[in-house]
Parts: sequence; C-alpha cells; structure tokens
Amino acid sequence: MSRQLRRNGGDGSLADMNTDPSCIFCKIVAGEAPAAIVAEDEVTLAFMDINPLTPGHLLVIPREHHESIATIRGSVLSHMVLIGQWLAAALRASPEIRTEGINLYLADGSAAGQEVPHSHLHLVPRWPGDGFRIRAERTWSPGPGDLEEMAAQIRDAATD
Ligand code: 5GP
Ligand code: ZN
Repeated sequence: MSRQLRRNGGDGSLADMNTDPSCIFCKIVAGEAPAAIVAEDEVTLAFMDINPLTPGHLLVIPREHHESIATIRGSVLSHMVLIGQWLAAALRASPEIRTEGINLYLADGSAAGQEVPHSHLHLVPRWPGDGFRIRAERTWSPGPGDLEEMAAQIRDAATD
C-alpha cells in the first residue's frame, strides 16, 4: 500500500511524493528508522547496508517509494545511477575501504532476488580473494537463430 505525501520540493514548491508507511526504506527516508547515511539530496538517499556483503556495501535509493524501476521517473533513475557513480569513486578513493572493483547490482522483482520492495542500487566493494561469490549458472543454451529471434521479440515489445 502506498500513499501520496505533499513535501517541499526544495525550490519552495510542493511536489507529490510516493511513500509507504510499512516500508523500512521509507522509514529511513522519513528519519523514523536509523541508518548510517552516506549522502542525501532532493531525490536520493545513500546509506550503509545493514548486512554488508563486503565492508563498504551501500545502497542508493530514491526518496520516493517505488517497488520497481518500471515506475521511477527517468530523471530520478538516472540520478540514482549518477550518485552510484559518484559514490563508487568515493569508495575507490577511500584509503580505509578496500575497493579494487565494485559490483553495482539492482534486483527488480522478488523473482530476481529483491527482498526490500523499495527499489535500490547496491554498491559492493570487491577485491581479489574477498570471499564474495556470485554463483551464476547458465540456464539456457541458444540454438542457431535463437538470439536474433529473441532480439526481435524484445524489439517488438519495447515501447517508445
Ligand atoms: P535486496 O535483496 O532487496 O536487493 O536487498 C535488500 C538489502 O537491504 C539487503 O542487502 C539488506 O541487508 C538491506 N537491508 C534490509 N533491511 C535494512 C535496514 O533496515 N537497514 C539497512 N541499512 N539495510 C537493510
Ligand atoms: Zn519505500
């Protein structure tokens, strides 16, 4: 369940903002639940993951509640990615947090492993031998022409 809140848009104007009172990330946005905040601005919030995969693991979220990237405005989604890029550079520049590579990860939908239904971009610092594994097994071996056919199916389904 989500509802609309009126908030100050920063420029003095009021803007509609989606929020869900039962969502833990909305509670963090509202200051009603604790989090180690890394950065915040008008549209995004970045904070440390409470259960980090490696030291420095953080999340970038839109302030608005959206379960899926499907409903996030393009300008907000691209801002999330830019904040992710900026914080990736900060992780790499940090002398204390070992970061030789970074996995940027977004699970869209429970079938994709999304557990918190407020869309979020993970930044997971990586280094050789960090012990973190992404176990991916190929589930489909395309036959001749399959990739071209699939490309056409996706192209046909894509909206303007
Ligand atoms: P997902 O599986 O949905 O992509 O990832 C959800 C992430 O949110 C997990 O890595 C989990 O540790 C993190 N998380 C869940 N609840 C909280 C919380 O209350 N505070 C913070 N900081 N992170 C959380
Ligand atoms: Zn939320």
